[in-house]
Amino acid sequence: MATITDYDAPRRPMVDLEEDSLEELKARRSTSGSPSVDVDETEAAEGFELPGADLSDEELTVTVVPMRADEFRCSRCFLVHHRSQLARQKDEQLICSECA
Ligand SMILES: [Zn+2]
Repeated sequence: MATITDYDAPRRPMVDLEEDSLEELKARRSTSGSPSVDVDETEAAEGFELPGADLSDEELTVTVVPMRADEFRCSRCFLVHHRSQLARQKDEQLICSECA
């Protein structure tokens, strides 16, 4: 009988710990999602970002073309070309056939 309780003893605390941390996480999430202070800050920031200065930022983000594995960005014209257009490679610099 003593062995059975010995086996059970080390296991129970672990389960209890996991359950505790899970519940703690849930509690933290539900509390961190509701504060009205955060909402107020976001609204204020958005109000600030509306004026023209931020528009150029958005344009920049749109211009960035996601590169594919078979593409590279030329270090001279900064355009994204297919790998077949790769004329030269110098260290980290890739140069397309148009700029070579
Ligand atoms: Zn180029």
